[in-house]
Amino acid sequence: MRLILFGMPGVGKGTQAKILSQKHGAIHVSTGDMLRSNVQNGTPLGAMAKTYMDKGELVPDHLIIAMIEEVLSSPKARKGYVLDGFPRTVAQAEALETILWRANVPIDRAINIVVDEEEVVRRLSGRMTCPNCGAIYHKYNQPPKTPDMCDQCGHVGLVQRNDDKEETVRHRLEVYHKNTEPVLEFYRKKGAIVDVDGAKPVEEVTASIEALVQNGKA
Ligand code: ADP
Ligand code: AMP
Repeated sequence: MRLILFGMPGVGKGTQAKILSQKHGAIHVSTGDMLRSNVQNGTPLGAMAKTYMDKGELVPDHLIIAMIEEVLSSPKARKGYVLDGFPRTVAQAEALETILWRANVPIDRAINIVVDEEEVVRRLSGRMTCPNCGAIYHKYNQPPKTPDMCDQCGHVGLVQRNDDKEETVRHRLEVYHKNTEPVLEFYRKKGAIVDVDGAKPVEEVTASIEALVQNGKA
């Protein structure tokens, strides 16, 4: 499975990417998770990225493209991948085209998960993540089985992301409209993207994506 998941912050890309990559033996490539892990580990990339991430701005293209080139050219990517949060600018989409062309492995499907903006704000303001394994929860929609404990790894102490404060969320949405919506146009012109209703329950969204991947409808 080689899949790109698009959509505003909070539509459920990470949630779906984790389920699909696990079920289909692919790797989950989240540029956001990779950057957060760099921040946590105190790397020079993390230090640079943090200044942008805390403000809800995009990290410069050259840093993101270098990171993606490395992961997509690694042996583990041969099993397939689900791209989550990349590409987010037209320059990133163009770089991805070059990487795929060089490797001669096209994407199976590009999917745009659609949820209205107010619902996205509600989802992000209630999002909780496990700082140990990255599992994603929601205070009301997807609470963990035991309060504050990760179902996946047992870590106690789920956290709210720094950039999920309402003010930063609003700015991230503006950045999405300005920089990432043109990427949708880039793929629409090629007839290479299909919308999925992301307002449905998690399992139904997964089933819709799987159906599209299997029957090859674009
Ligand atoms: P993204 O990766 O697109 O930013 P996430 O996967 O992190 O989005 O999901 C954002 C929030 O919405 C999380 O709290 C998650 O638990 C919740 N969520 C994801 N999918 C759904 C859904 N289909 N219905 C309700 N809540 C959802
Ligand atoms: P995400 O986890 O996808 O919501 O991303 C969190 C933050 O990481 C974003 O607000 C950006 O600051 C940064 N980021 C993640 N992916 C990219 C990308 N492809 N291009 C630029 N910045 C990114």
